[in-house]
Amino acid sequence: MAVSEFRSLVNSQVEAMLAAGRHLHPETFDDVSERSYRAFPKRWADQVRIEFVQGLGSSGNLASESAIVEQGHDLSGLFLPADRSIGRRPLIEIDARSFFRMHFTAFHELGHFLQRTDMDCYARLFSFDDRAEAKRFEESACNRFAAEVLLPDALVRSNLTPDGVVASDACRLFLNAHFASRQAVARRLAEYLPKGGSVSFFDMRGRLAVRAFASGRSEYGADPSAFEVRALTMLRQGDKDELVMDGETLGSGGAAAGRISAAKSRFAKGYGVFVVVS
Ligand SMILES: [Zn+2]
Repeated sequence: MAVSEFRSLVNSQVEAMLAAGRHLHPETFDDVSERSYRAFPKRWADQVRIEFVQGLGSSGNLASESAIVEQGHDLSGLFLPADRSIGRRPLIEIDARSFFRMHFTAFHELGHFLQRTDMDCYARLFSFDDRAEAKRFEESACNRFAAEVLLPDALVRSNLTPDGVVASDACRLFLNAHFASRQAVARRLAEYLPKGGSVSFFDMRGRLAVRAFASGRSEYGADPSAFEVRALTMLRQGDKDELVMDGETLGSGGAAAGRISAAKSRFAKGYGVFVVVS
């Protein structure tokens, strides 16, 4: 299947998931305040049991054959579908040890629940002949669903400067989004860039946490590019919290980029840095 066809199928699936979710509990999607989020497990208890745990190994569910388990950069949780034959209700378990990951995981797992229970979503899930592709489709839809719930389009757009995405937009979006990590902000914002663009986030130790491309692809723990090294160095040497440069300013390798921006994103006692290449 062509990449564009796969992406458009994922988008249709996410639309259907949002509609199904809204139908059951509209407040979860229309009110993304902290209070609303805290009410989330209780509110959904009529549909699915949601439990926060300290590490996934603490319950026996990790070993269950029907559990969908994920442990990675952004996710640490599992979804256990209902099993009528043994009277089991659906269950979501979320590893609560990381604040931002916990929120992204919660909505990702809710995405599994909706895809497995809404008839339209379920049908689309099983329209694939290839099991590996079906799995990739389901996971992609869950990730997109979580990103759209935590960073809805209206919120993203209200934090963008009018003439294209710059790094300070990422800082502002992170401050105004209650539960999205800076990695999630980077991935979501990359969708608003022209082809070839990227949003990177460097953590407090200066390591590349994620580089998200306009194409939808993300890299983790990669080496910084020549653009990024120059932007980080200039930011470190100057006294400003942000900078915007033409691609040519960066010399060799700069020709591929029209504009590079970098901005310090403060959080707790330290700061990380967003770099946007567009
Ligand atoms: Zn998943």
